[in-house]
Amino acid sequence: MTKAIEEVYAALKRSFKGSLLRPDDAEYPNARRIWNGLVARRPGLIARCNDSNDVQAAVRAAGSAGVTTAVRCGGHSLAGFSSCDDGLVIDLSPMRKVQVFPETRSARFEGGCLLGSIDSATQTVGLAFPAGVVSHTGAAGLVLGGGTGWLNRLHGLSCDNVRGFTVVVADGSLVHASASENADLFWALRGGGGNFGVVTEFEVTLHAVSSVLFGRGLCPGDEVLGLLRHWREFMPEGPDNLRWGFSLKTAPHDENTPADLRGSPIASASALWVGDLNEGRRYVDRAFAIGNHKVITKKVMSFSTLQTLADSDFPHGRRYYTKAGYFKTLNDESISIMLEALATNPSVANEIELAYLGGAAARVAPGETAFGDRSAPFVLNLLGNWSDPADDSKNISWIRGLFARLRPAMVPGVYVNFMSGDEDDRVPEAYRERWERLRAIKTIYDPSNFFRLNQNIPPLTAVATGIPE
Ligand SMILES: Cc1cc2nc3c(=O)[nH]c(=O)nc-3n(C[C@H](O)[C@H](O)[C@H](O)COP(=O)(O)OP(=O)(O)OC[C@H]3O[C@@H](n4cnc5c(N)ncnc54)[C@H](O)[C@@H]3O)c2cc1C
Repeated sequence: MTKAIEEVYAALKRSFKGSLLRPDDAEYPNARRIWNGLVARRPGLIARCNDSNDVQAAVRAAGSAGVTTAVRCGGHSLAGFSSCDDGLVIDLSPMRKVQVFPETRSARFEGGCLLGSIDSATQTVGLAFPAGVVSHTGAAGLVLGGGTGWLNRLHGLSCDNVRGFTVVVADGSLVHASASENADLFWALRGGGGNFGVVTEFEVTLHAVSSVLFGRGLCPGDEVLGLLRHWREFMPEGPDNLRWGFSLKTAPHDENTPADLRGSPIASASALWVGDLNEGRRYVDRAFAIGNHKVITKKVMSFSTLQTLADSDFPHGRRYYTKAGYFKTLNDESISIMLEALATNPSVANEIELAYLGGAAARVAPGETAFGDRSAPFVLNLLGNWSDPADDSKNISWIRGLFARLRPAMVPGVYVNFMSGDEDDRVPEAYRERWERLRAIKTIYDPSNFFRLNQNIPPLTAVATGIPE
């Protein structure tokens, strides 16, 4: 334990209501782990906060001791930002309270909530918050970066559905941000990630969603070009209720995969309809009519079931690496490059994910939130997923090589939540024309860059050390 961490521990132990875990504590080995097994760090102290007073105390103590500090909600940062070596982790996992207000179609949830905690509470009254597709993801990191998922075409990004934030800023004070209060901070928190403080509570808009129609199918590699050509022509005019996307991958050798597809390139297609189910059947049927799909399933299911379908595909502790970007148009050459790359894919769990944003998310003006421009609708996420450390370099090289080949066809921009930890140079690219405004707001709320373990937006004039009391 360093002297500075001892100082933080001594300052907190008197009145901290949550738990303070040090490397010798029995709970520490589990508590230090985050979702991405590629990132293994050993913080000096993990402060599991029970409430906003605990968060304020932790921020003040770490600030005055000059200790590197990570903030954790669900621990799903692909880049591994929610941990650090030797420093402090402010862990919000005890703060998972959700309050739902059906009469105003709104909810308040605490800064440590997982998506599953929010869905469980809101679905009891048939409402939903538009967020991500895996229920064990943390809501705070996801919403602060933007938040894409099944409902975005119908109801916008997660950050578009936030009405207010309660946030502990770098001097330890508790600030409220909404359209009418600290409006600059409200703007910055909708896409600017964890740069501005620790959000202890979100106030959000909910939408009526109960049963949905969901279809899945496997398209053989030699049909994929034709299918994606059809998709790219159809989606710009497609209804907001339809979310249709693909994961290009190598078919696994398992009993759910037809024998003739195993080991070859495929597109795993998914088509979701939210709304009138009879109308939806026409669209979902149409999505699977092209491409000679195999093993097609179409089911009406509850929204809660939909939200947990992908949970087991992304287990904790495996090794993950990602690179992402946007295409304004998806050309044939890019599709061919993706398919060719699958011939040398080192892991059957690796995926080339293709989504089409558009819809309500794209109707939010670029200047309205820090998330910014949504005019390039084709979202690409290259996700490496493997288990053996000996395979790290071949998987990372495969993702980097494929990204480099696709990059010339992309437009500038990247979604901060789909970035790895080695992409600092792309953070200004993520924010482009919003960069200077974000830096100015950062300078007001975090002049010494205390909150820097994130896709970092540095303040305009970094103060050397120390956070004012
Ligand atoms: C399995 C999986 C599925 C995913 N699916 C989607 C998806 O469908 N849609 C999508 O948009 N993204 C998705 N993502 C990406 C996801 O949005 C990011 O990984 C996000 O950072 C996860 O949030 P978290 O709270 O779990 O992360 P953490 O690792 O806890 O934190 C991530 C960042 O947010 C900051 N942070 C965390 N909590 C707070 C807080 N309370 N206040 C201020 N800052 C905070 C941290 O400091 C860190 O910089 C997925 C990721 C994974 C691993």
